[in-house]
Amino acid sequence: MLTREECLDLDQSDPLAGHRKLFHLPDGVIYLDGNSLGALPRTIPDRLESFVRDEWGTDLIRSWNINGWFDSPNRVGARLAPIVGAEPDEVIVCDNLSVNIFKMLAAAIGLRPDRRTIVIETGNFPSDHYITDSVAATFGLEVRTVDAAEVTNAVDDDVAVVHLSHVDYRTGELLDMPAITAATRAAGAISMWDLAHSAGALEVELSSSGVDFAVGCGYKYLNGGPGAPAFIYANRRHHGDLRQPLTGWTGHAAPFALDRSYEPGPGLTPLRSGTPAMLSMVAFEEALRCFDGVDFAMVRAKSRRLGELFVELVDQFLPGQFELVGPADSARRGSQVSFQHADGYPIMQALIARGVIGDFRAPDRLRFGFAPLYVRHVDVWDAVDTIASVLATREWDDPRFRERSTVT
Ligand SMILES: *Cc1c(COP(=O)(O)O)cnc(C)c1O
Repeated sequence: MLTREECLDLDQSDPLAGHRKLFHLPDGVIYLDGNSLGALPRTIPDRLESFVRDEWGTDLIRSWNINGWFDSPNRVGARLAPIVGAEPDEVIVCDNLSVNIFKMLAAAIGLRPDRRTIVIETGNFPSDHYITDSVAATFGLEVRTVDAAEVTNAVDDDVAVVHLSHVDYRTGELLDMPAITAATRAAGAISMWDLAHSAGALEVELSSSGVDFAVGCGYKYLNGGPGAPAFIYANRRHHGDLRQPLTGWTGHAAPFALDRSYEPGPGLTPLRSGTPAMLSMVAFEEALRCFDGVDFAMVRAKSRRLGELFVELVDQFLPGQFELVGPADSARRGSQVSFQHADGYPIMQALIARGVIGDFRAPDRLRFGFAPLYVRHVDVWDAVDTIASVLATREWDDPRFRERSTVT
């Protein structure tokens, strides 16, 4: 039997414990949803205030030059690069994830003009599926949808691009990026990884894995705030050949020459479309400071321990009441744990009412994310204790907890 004191001891010896104070976390809340919306870094309100007052308010349009607004997609990309194992010139921050999926699938198809198939994994996120279907329809390709275990077998010489999520948003399953990327490359196809549920939570080694393209969002484990700009990684070997259909003026080689015809800029510049959303960009840039000097081997070790602890305690407090979804081995899981329960929705609403915030994914999954920079071992203990109490008292079985909100 694991005790609460033992969890407090684990926090005492946690080398990442000091990072928690970089975040604003409300009293009385155990936040296990940083995989959906990261917590607020403490310095963001002041940074946004000075941005609005001094840069927008005082420097006005001069800010595009003097405050580095125009170059921000590349600068923030360079700041993000080490978090995903990339070189500084291989990452750019722009648009949202869904838009970037469209742009990069189209770019991949452009690199393999003789191939007519896109491979996608069954469990990928809806936006990834919808946009893959739309890209296929737009450019006249076929979509081949396969289970994770079948991906490498499905890549033949007709496949232009293989589009996968590094960590499955529902089950938490972590795919073997180096192995799948190597097999994809051996078959001559482009690999495109969606890092929405891995960037900031575990070691991602894009360059050394030989990945072609990757995309991800800024508001999950990267804590960039609601609707934060997303990012794109493109391996250096493709720089110079990158073409995507949303050829806006900021991707032009000389945007202020105001030429009538499009001339792609160098490196990742052609992946830009329009003006960066600076209020969001500045918050994201500030948020990334929380990762300065962070050792991702440590982040991963803590993330695995938190997940294992959660599973162990659920088993200890609630034997047989929840079914674990996804891999039981933490080495094959991202930084989240999902459980299946027929009354998952009202149970999660009752937990949220008690200050334990996770989320629900249809049809019956309770999802708990463990952001290693601010979740403590004792939070895991207290969360499971609350789950046990909510189930024992059946307080979830109240009509108000069954009313479905738009966002679950
Ligand atoms: C969160 C998430 C998205 C969301 O895309 P947005 O454009 O940011 O709304 C897409 N794909 C995956 C895999 C996700 O986890």
